[in-house]
Amino acid sequence: MNKKELELYVHIPFCVKKCDYCDFLSFSCSDEAKVSYTRALLKEIDSQPDMEDYQVVSIFFGGGTPSLMEIDLMQKITEQIRGKFHISDQAEITLEANPGTLTMEKLQAYLQMGFNRISIGCQSLSNTELIRLGRIHTAEEFYESFLLARNAGFDNINVDLMSALPGQTFENWERNLREMADLAPEHISAYSLILEERTPFFQKQCDLDLPDEDTERLMYEKTQDILREYGYHQYEISNYAKAGYECRHNIGYWKRVPYLGFGLGASSLKNEERYSNTSDWKEYLKKSDRPESIKKSCEKLSRKDQIEEYMILGLRMNCGVSEKDFSGQFGCTFDDIYHDVINKYVKTGYMQRTEGKITLTRKGISVSNIIMADFIL
Ligand code: SF4
Repeated sequence: MNKKELELYVHIPFCVKKCDYCDFLSFSCSDEAKVSYTRALLKEIDSQPDMEDYQVVSIFFGGGTPSLMEIDLMQKITEQIRGKFHISDQAEITLEANPGTLTMEKLQAYLQMGFNRISIGCQSLSNTELIRLGRIHTAEEFYESFLLARNAGFDNINVDLMSALPGQTFENWERNLREMADLAPEHISAYSLILEERTPFFQKQCDLDLPDEDTERLMYEKTQDILREYGYHQYEISNYAKAGYECRHNIGYWKRVPYLGFGLGASSLKNEERYSNTSDWKEYLKKSDRPESIKKSCEKLSRKDQIEEYMILGLRMNCGVSEKDFSGQFGCTFDDIYHDVINKYVKTGYMQRTEGKITLTRKGISVSNIIMADFIL
């Protein structure tokens, strides 16, 4: 019998210190906290009901800074996962890391644990910009970590870069991007800075000297051109890869492959039910062996929710959404539901409809938020 696909996400909420723009669930911690958290994670994984009909096609350790964890703790978590789930031989297994927290010993241990992809949060190659962001590392430390990962044997590396940073000019951004592409990572995630509420950046936004909207748009458009020049293809609004190195974990997420999230605040999607773990540290540590009691929210997705998600997540990808797949899943056509909205955007050149697919055009990608809002029923 063919097993169904499943993805796993493990949240490691620890960071050396909080960056000034960050609203992720992350904080600094003691060594004891890491040990207690690992114990709780192991219990949570172990108490999952068996999923014999599923095979795990990707695992993503995100954070926070998973590379802050000690090797023995990571070994325990990965062993627990392997003991509990059937992992495909071809599974993509990613670890998020920050410069300055990697050593050759750790990297070699990750390879032995089965990690085959590493994602390094760099954000900028300018030390001035890194200081403004409140990052813990310098550009030199990023280069060191990148080369260490390469020399250890990682042949699938992603780097995160951010544009529209305080004080950043178009030329600064272009320099960052070209220097990064010169290093030839297999994958580049290039995001614009977003001001999130409850962050120091949000409080002091008037003093940040952010690039204006036109410059920000130009940075985005130029990113597509520059990275194409270096042999990357854009496969999603903010993601670029060399051929064959698209992030399978994220594609699964955009295609709504079921996933289980473990750890503080982690969310899951299974049987068209979405639920999230508590974000309360003490509660998580105390109750992690009873998955029902750490669920903070649980939402049964209606058919309408599923259709909206299918369109909004699917349109993020350059391959777009497939008419055949849509009618296979929902028993109706795009036109039954979205005839007017699709026609409007096709006529105005923001979308195209070809070979049984609907995709955003380049013009559409730059206003994707507005277009996607129109797909909410
Ligand atoms: S390293 Fe990442 S997760 Fe940690 S505080 Fe900075 S942006 Fe947030």
